[in-house]
Amino acid sequence: AKADGRGRWRRYAATLDQEASERAWIGRDLRTALASGQLEVHYQPRLDLRTGRTEGAEALVRWRHPERGWIPPVRFVPVAEESDLIVALGEQVMNMAMAQRRRWRDLGVPIGRVAVNVSARQLQDAGFADTVLAMLARHGLRPQELELEITESLFAGEAALVERALAPLRAAGVQVALDDFGTGFSSLSALRHLPVDVMKIDRSFVIDLGQDPDSDAVVRAVIALARDLGKRVVAEGVETELQQQRLRALGCDEVQGYRYAKPLAPEAFLEGVRAGFDA
Ligand code: C2E
Ligand code: CA
Ligand code: CA
Ligand code: CA
Repeated sequence: AKADGRGRWRRYAATLDQEASERAWIGRDLRTALASGQLEVHYQPRLDLRTGRTEGAEALVRWRHPERGWIPPVRFVPVAEESDLIVALGEQVMNMAMAQRRRWRDLGVPIGRVAVNVSARQLQDAGFADTVLAMLARHGLRPQELELEITESLFAGEAALVERALAPLRAAGVQVALDDFGTGFSSLSALRHLPVDVMKIDRSFVIDLGQDPDSDAVVRAVIALARDLGKRVVAEGVETELQQQRLRALGCDEVQGYRYAKPLAPEAFLEGVRAGFDA
């Protein structure tokens, strides 16, 4: 048993080593990636459940590493968040997303808002709102064409900071979405005061819809709450017909998920919009 324990410890230590070295090369190579245009942005449509129209697109970063191939954001975004790299990454993604939004408008493609994920560290910069507003102006976009996705946990931890950073943007007409809703344990009274326009129900609640009565109850409650607070509700991670049926019955406004489309490169997204994503 002792030897067994030692073996387990050795494997555990090896895993830690591996993780540390992965963090090290990711941090190093990400700097190069940012400087040499290895990052791309893919877009996943958000559809209105009633009309089936594309109401917007979430911008999701992708990294094409020259030797290692595609690296998913769950591997490098957290590493970037441990340093200031996330600020440069966030700005680069936002810039690409705005440029793309502008191109689509120039092509006469109605895609609503482009939604960009924002990390805590970005909001800590006093200049965040000015940077975003200046970028909108530079691309000739209206603030209404942009949405920022902020995770619920962020509001729980640093509500005052978040509010200060977002107030000028909301005043200008930028929409704010509460991302991963349901995973951050916000109290109901805190929710009432959150400076957000949209609530995105986390995929973990959508998965069991129609199969687990508890999931239905949670989603029903969230939708009722959002209604009362005058916010739109988006369900993320919708994969099945059954989930869509339940969401429609419960009065959800918008859906996003593999059922309609995976995150797509800009050209593929444009084709999808033209052909009409099916809701
Ligand atoms: P998120 O913001 O919750 O984004 C949704 C994730 O769920 C995306 O993964 C998307 O591809 C995936 N997804 C969408 N529909 C479905 C579905 O039907 N089934 C399943 N299983 N998954 C679905 P992705 O692109 O790998 O991104 C993962 C996370 O990385 C994002 O989660 C977000 O937290 C972060 N991220 C991505 N891009 C950025 C970025 O530009 N900035 C920041 N700060 N974070 C980003
Ligand atoms: Ca998101
Ligand atoms: Ca999310
Ligand atoms: Ca999520």
